[in-house]
This record gives sequence, structure tokens and C-alpha cells, in this order.
Amino acid sequence: MTAPDPPFPEQVLRHQPLARFTAARLGGPADYLYIAKDPGFHETLAVLRIAWSYGLPVTVIGGGANVLVADKGIRGLTVINRATQISHETCGEDALVSASSGANLIRLVRYCQERGFTGMEWAIAVPGTVGGAVVNNAGAHGGDMANTLRKALVFESGQGETWYDLGDLNYAYRYSELKARADTRFFVMKAVFQLKRAQPPAILRRMNQFSDYRRRTQPPGASLGSIFKNPPGDYAGRLIEAAKLKGFRIGDVQVSPVHANFFVNIGENATADDYYRLIEAVRGRVEDIFGTQLELEIQTLGEWA
Ligand SMILES: Cc1cc2nc3c(=O)[nH]c(=O)nc-3n(C[C@H](O)[C@H](O)[C@H](O)COP(=O)(O)OP(=O)(O)OC[C@H]3O[C@@H](n4cnc5c(N)ncnc54)[C@H](O)[C@@H]3O)c2cc1C
Repeated sequence: MTAPDPPFPEQVLRHQPLARFTAARLGGPADYLYIAKDPGFHETLAVLRIAWSYGLPVTVIGGGANVLVADKGIRGLTVINRATQISHETCGEDALVSASSGANLIRLVRYCQERGFTGMEWAIAVPGTVGGAVVNNAGAHGGDMANTLRKALVFESGQGETWYDLGDLNYAYRYSELKARADTRFFVMKAVFQLKRAQPPAILRRMNQFSDYRRRTQPPGASLGSIFKNPPGDYAGRLIEAAKLKGFRIGDVQVSPVHANFFVNIGENATADDYYRLIEAVRGRVEDIFGTQLELEIQTLGEWA
């Protein structure tokens, strides 16, 4: 006998494909799919409460820029976060910018530049949402979330809404207290950034420098950005390239010939299984040659067995 459906609102859909919600364009269906759009998250929190009270696993996907979703899909409820409100207030030389967790990070950078708030330029080419960046401590070009985030509002099962100050998140390289949690009974609702004032043209110049660098050094196409974290004192991309794996492919997933730490979905027939097998093959080869165990920067989600 199958369990009865939880009493979700009609906006929660059944058996929806997830590939289009991920940057690698891979992954099977969600049992239940909900797209959060309300900036105040009233409906979203109600949906989460129902799922948690029925013991359903909950998975949150922001931009899907750092997650590999299994071909078999994700059991339970998957929330796609598209709540995008951004606002600010100024006090003296500082600006406090508040962004809903579904806001696109690149749009946030542009919002800040247009108003003369500096500190977020590093993120001009980092895809995904504010929520994903809070969880991952996203960073680039010497900056990261830990530099500018002041606090984040998190909704937790059994706890309600809690403000996490920067220190509570225990940020380190692509790491946060939230990312380390085995359960997913939390939802980042919004983030507040403390930024300085600067002239918009100067901020734009920095953004353009970073964008130009990206265009020169990183491949276009469906990828998840850096697959592995850089090991201490080295670069994952350098090790993979030195192992002569640039261009190596399994099925329609290829180690980018442009940047060896990027694996690109290059065809209609790519699968998440191929993607994962390529990760394992590259990791094994690098360890055999250099004795270095590469640690995943991306996360795998869903049913793999
Ligand atoms: C081309 C490319 C370049 C990239 N370059 C960089 C780079 O320079 N630096 C960098 O740090 N990263 C980079 N990345 C990786 C990615 O952009 C970042 O990790 C980004 O912060 C992920 O955000 P997201 O919204 O897509 O998160 P997702 O991939 O959707 O999710 C990441 C994790 O956060 C969780 N999560 C997301 N939103 C919420 C929420 N609201 N509440 C609770 N949990 C949530 C998810 O469950 C998952 O565990 C790159 C990716 C690509 C494709």
C-alpha cells in the first residue's frame, strides 16, 4: 500500500524532471517539486512544515550550480528557490544589503554596483543564488561570503526562524556549519551583507576585470564549476592537467580542454552516472600518480544506489 500524499497546496507538483534546474543539465525526477517565489516565504515555510511533519526528506536547490543530481532523481520534496527580492539601507559609510536567498548572486553584484556599494565584485561570474552561496561560502578572486556577509536568516525544523551571525556559520574554504550538516532540515531565507561605499565606475572596472579573466580561463557550457577543492598549496586543475586528463571523457561528459577542474556536459546523451564515473576516474588517476586525494567541492544529491 502506498503512503497517502501529504496535504500540499496544488503548487507542489509530482514527478517533475530536475535536469533543467541544474547547471550541468543532468538529473532525474523529484517525487514532489515546489518552486518558491514568494519573497516573504509564507507559502514556502508552510510547504516545508508539511513535508517535515510527514517525515519527507527535503532538498533545496538554488541555482543548481554546485550539485550533481542522480539519474534516479530525488526522493521526497525538492524546493527550487526563486524568491529574488533585494533591498538596502545605508548608515554612514556602510550599506546593509538584504537579499532573499533565491536572488541570483550575479544580479546582487549588479544591484550593489549600480548603487555604489563595494565588496561583492568577486561574485560577478559565480552562478547560483544567495542561499547556495551562504551554504557553500562561495568565493573567487580573493573574496568570499565570509568577507561581507553579516548575518543570515535560517528556518529550521522544530526551531523556526533564527538569525545566524557570521561567526555562527564557522566559515572556512568552501565550508560552512550548514554545509556540514547531514540532515537538510533547514532553509536559508535571506542574507544581509555589510558593504562600503565606492564610486560605481570603479566597482564596474573591478567586475569587468574579473569577468574578462573568467572568459579567458573557464569553459562555456553546462558544467558545475570546479569539481574538486584545491588541495593545500596546489591546484586541483593543475594536478588533473599534469595527469594528462584534459579532454578525457566518459560518454558525453568531458574534462574541459580549457580548465581541467571543470567537467562539461557536451551532448544530448550525458548522464549523471557518466558525470560521477568521470569524477571517480579522475580522482583515482590523480591519486595513483601524485598520491593526492582530491576532495569534492560539488555535492551529489538524490538516489545513487
Ligand atoms: C561555471 C561555474 C563557475 C563557478 N565558479 C565558482 C567560483 O568561482 N566560486 C565558487 O565558490 N563557486 C563557483 N561555482 C559553484 C557555484 O556557483 C557556487 O557553489 C554557488 O554558490 C552555488 O549556488 P547555488 O544557488 O547554485 O547552489 P546549489 O548548487 O543549488 O546548492 C548548493 C548547496 O546549497 C544548498 N542550498 C542552496 N540554497 C539553499 C537554501 N536557500 N537553503 C538551504 N540550503 C540551500 C543546497 O541544498 C546544496 O547543498 C561555479 C559554478 C559554475 C557552474
